[in-house]
Amino acid sequence: MARPHPQEPVIVVGSGIAGALAALGAAESGPVVVITEGALGDGSTRRAQGGIAAAVDRGDSVEAHLRDTLEAGAGLCDPEAAAAICREGPAQVTELLSRGVVFDRSRGRLRLAREGAHSAARVVHAGGDATGAHIVAALSAALRADPRIELAEAERATEILVRDGRAAGLRTAGADGTPRERAARAVALASGGMGWLYPRTTNPPGATADGPALAARAGAALADLELVQFHPTALALGDGPLALVSEAVRGEGAVLRDARGRRFMPEVHPMAELGPRDVVARAIARRAAELGGEVTLDLRHLDAAEVRRRFPTVAALCAEHGLDLARDPIPVTPAAHYAIGGILADMAGRSTLPGLFAVGECAATGAHGANRLASNGLLEAAVLAAGASEALAAGGDAWPEGPTSPPAAPPPSGGGAAAARAALREAMWCGVGVERDAAGIAAAQRALLAIPEGTDGAADNLLLVGRLAAAAAALRTESRGAHFRRDHPRPDPAQARRIAWVGGSPFHVPPTRAARRRRALAKEAA
Ligand SMILES: Cc1cc2nc3c(=O)[nH]c(=O)nc-3n(C[C@H](O)[C@H](O)[C@H](O)COP(=O)(O)OP(=O)(O)OC[C@H]3O[C@@H](n4cnc5c(N)ncnc54)[C@H](O)[C@@H]3O)c2cc1C
Repeated sequence: MARPHPQEPVIVVGSGIAGALAALGAAESGPVVVITEGALGDGSTRRAQGGIAAAVDRGDSVEAHLRDTLEAGAGLCDPEAAAAICREGPAQVTELLSRGVVFDRSRGRLRLAREGAHSAARVVHAGGDATGAHIVAALSAALRADPRIELAEAERATEILVRDGRAAGLRTAGADGTPRERAARAVALASGGMGWLYPRTTNPPGATADGPALAARAGAALADLELVQFHPTALALGDGPLALVSEAVRGEGAVLRDARGRRFMPEVHPMAELGPRDVVARAIARRAAELGGEVTLDLRHLDAAEVRRRFPTVAALCAEHGLDLARDPIPVTPAAHYAIGGILADMAGRSTLPGLFAVGECAATGAHGANRLASNGLLEAAVLAAGASEALAAGGDAWPEGPTSPPAAPPPSGGGAAAARAALREAMWCGVGVERDAAGIAAAQRALLAIPEGTDGAADNLLLVGRLAAAAAALRTESRGAHFRRDHPRPDPAQARRIAWVGGSPFHVPPTRAARRRRALAKEAA
């Protein structure tokens, strides 16, 4: 295998929390280039509301955070990865503070919010519900101020260059499509999520699975693609990224009604509207499909002035569509929110292809298992970026063994991307959406196969990853975490294994040493 050239830069793709922190960390060990589509900081990070989970309170503990993370992960967490994000959480909050993020405080101490399925108040936030915007502002300023970092905005990564079995650079396209080749000591993908596989998503338009698709074509393994987290209540208005109507609105007493005006959650779950996210999302999707017409959130029984005071952001979003949050039924829908799957990576962000790192939402480390605990997304991104920086500082050459496939170039672009995208997103929503079954997945697979490749880069990336996600959903004949199969509604202990893909073929991610030890102990105890 060729050795990396120490004078060449590390190229980071993306400038959300993962890309920014990875670039700032990697700059300690040599030059860095950040390639980012659009403007600096465009991405999901900017839209994050709730905050970042970390056991920073004296009454909290890393062990309690880990218990909650493993519980949410429904038996699929990589225990070492889950432990690493919980252990490193407090240090990453300190790191963000040192980078200039001003988190909310009360009497000098960090203010902490409690979110669903957390056993303690441990979510650090900024600007109330504007955490992501504050993180992006601080990190973008730090990137601009660092002379060791070259920023290439409005440049899109289109292909990973592989030389002698390692990632050796990137092919990119400028805003006007001008191609360019850039050599690299290592490439770190921090390209975010893949929400645009679905017609309803909270993700920004750049969330087109670019990182995983580029990595797969370069020969790296992907994993956990069947696991997509759907947020139950996005505002079902407009056709871009859908706005979130946070759980807090239901927490204040808002109820869900079907198209006939009937409240239905009390018969679905003992906690009614405050049941687990996946349960509420499925109930809404089912009711909307059964009756036609949107499900609505109803706040009309609450004090109108108090509603507008408590939820100014959501009230303003509703007002943009001519609706009064306090007085009108508000249409809501489940929407693709977080990709648990992506590029198979360890906690140093190392993919199975030497020289290629994956950090942030585009990585699949197993830390979230089958379902992400709220506010563990930003946390994992920060911890992975730190791990990748350390690996790069150590020379970036200690690469664990992992399966790869021969690299393949992306298809040349033709035309008809809009139609391809629309067909793909419809197929994914109907067959590989909130609820799945064998017939629906098979229909989606047929539809996805019929969509031509070579329309445009982003559509091709979505198609490559969508086909694998559908195949993964077909393979997992059980329900677990975010993956719900109508025809297999219960978890099957024999399937508590992560499904990964290389060169289009599946394999099971081998359990880490800790997981093997845990299983052996459980067997002994039984
Ligand atoms: C509405 C919303 C609210 C959320 N709230 C929370 C929350 O409260 N807490 C939490 O933990 N998580 C939350 N999440 C999830 C969390 O925000 C994301 O998982 C996280 O921000 C991802 O960070 P990232 O750096 O990996 O990707 P992003 O922030 O999405 O950044 C991706 C970057 O890659 C660039 N890019 C993509 N493709 C290319 C390409 N081909 N070439 C060049 N550049 C490219 C993009 O332009 C962007 O700069 C939320 C997500 C959404 C959508």
